Amino acid sequence: MASLHDRIEGVLLGTAVGDALGAPYEFGPPRGPELDVVMAGGGPWEPGEWTDDTAMALAIAEVAATGADLRGEPAQDAIVARWCEWSRDAKDVGIQTRAVLREAARGGAITAHRARLAAAARHESVGRSGGNGSLMRAAPVALAYLDDEDALATTARAISELTHFDPDAGDACVLWCSAIRHAVHTGELDVRVGLRHLEPGRREMWLSRIGSAEASTPSAIPGNGWVVAAFQAAWSAITTTQVPPEDPAHGSFRADHFRLAVDAAVRAGNDTDTVAAIAGGLLGAAYGASAVPLQWRRLLHGWPGLTARGVVALASPIARRGKPDTFDYRYRGYEVGALTPHPYDPQVLLGGIGALWRLPHGVDAVVSLCRVGGDAVRTDMPHVEVRLIDRDDPDENPHLDLVLTEAVRVVEELRSQGRTVLLHCVSALSRTPTVAALYGARLQGVSCERALRDVQAALPDAHPNAAFRTALQRLDPGVLVR
Ligand SMILES: [Mg+2]
Repeated sequence: MASLHDRIEGVLLGTAVGDALGAPYEFGPPRGPELDVVMAGGGPWEPGEWTDDTAMALAIAEVAATGADLRGEPAQDAIVARWCEWSRDAKDVGIQTRAVLREAARGGAITAHRARLAAAARHESVGRSGGNGSLMRAAPVALAYLDDEDALATTARAISELTHFDPDAGDACVLWCSAIRHAVHTGELDVRVGLRHLEPGRREMWLSRIGSAEASTPSAIPGNGWVVAAFQAAWSAITTTQVPPEDPAHGSFRADHFRLAVDAAVRAGNDTDTVAAIAGGLLGAAYGASAVPLQWRRLLHGWPGLTARGVVALASPIARRGKPDTFDYRYRGYEVGALTPHPYDPQVLLGGIGALWRLPHGVDAVVSLCRVGGDAVRTDMPHVEVRLIDRDDPDENPHLDLVLTEAVRVVEELRSQGRTVLLHCVSALSRTPTVAALYGARLQGVSCERALRDVQAALPDAHPNAAFRTALQRLDPGVLVR
């Protein structure tokens, strides 16, 4: 079930990284392959900062994480109140959303009932309300009803209607959330699974919209501020981006489809952050948090003062209906642990959890290969958390080769910035020596086997598990592929 957990954690994280990657390119033209797409920030956005899409989704997520039933009026009241709070200082709020929140809060405390009335009135007066602003924030609703597809469909529409009266917006949320739920359970990408929840007369129309998205490129779908076009652009980015072959020896990984398809969504142009947030939520559900590039994860942050760790931490309580995490982060008995310089690079220190708690002098970046408690995370230096589980079972590490490669890439990046890196897990027996061996092999151009032997000479108790050793063999011919 570890891979299911990974996919649950991928939903909000995928939304947020898509949003933050697309943010600097919002309202720009489509971007061809000759142009970069990087998480560089721009306009009011810092590098890695997410926008309204994720902020509004996190407001829903916070309420869902308490275990509240989102179908109920109290939960929906709490969501609109949180949106209102956020909108007061937000850097950007969608036109439709701002108008509805303002009207609903006029002359008293906002409630879900007043928001729905304001949304309907706005639809009446403007003649339309089918912007993409309810689809962009819908992902957490899927996590709240993983075990009940009918309840999911009802709730996805109800949360959409808090600001967007148009049935196209509700339909889009129902279809996308159903697809996210299906992806979390199966790892499959299929946006048609929720069609049965639509009114019979509207199913054919959506089938044809989905079909035309698949026959088009994301940038050829005009006007993606409209919810239908945003849906189509996101689905087009996912389905027209080729899934890379699994060929670790040549640095090619199937799960890298996550990164490539989110990149393609940004390249659609116009409402880039929203199209990429929508795509990222579904891709994250299918591939899991472990497929999200660590370089993106490392930069991610935004309202209400969270980083990637906080976004990931919200996902499980939603899926568990508010039950808290019972994992014991104290790792009793591992307080001392090993600590040694990497045999090929003394500015990479290899250690156990004790080294994180008593950070060695000079260390100014940390790469954690195990789960760490919130109080162990330093905020004054880069701290990257890698999802790696020390077990032989392939279900535990669904994208093991990609994750090992990513872990090494992030150490390389931190070193290229001149940082001294602590690379650690709980006891430096299996995960740390494995990543250290791959790092060393790439650094020195030697085989992983040789690098592992040298790492084991420095860490005499190290003995990577069989799955990790086999992964090193698979990755070995590719050590020089960067
Ligand atoms: Mg936005």
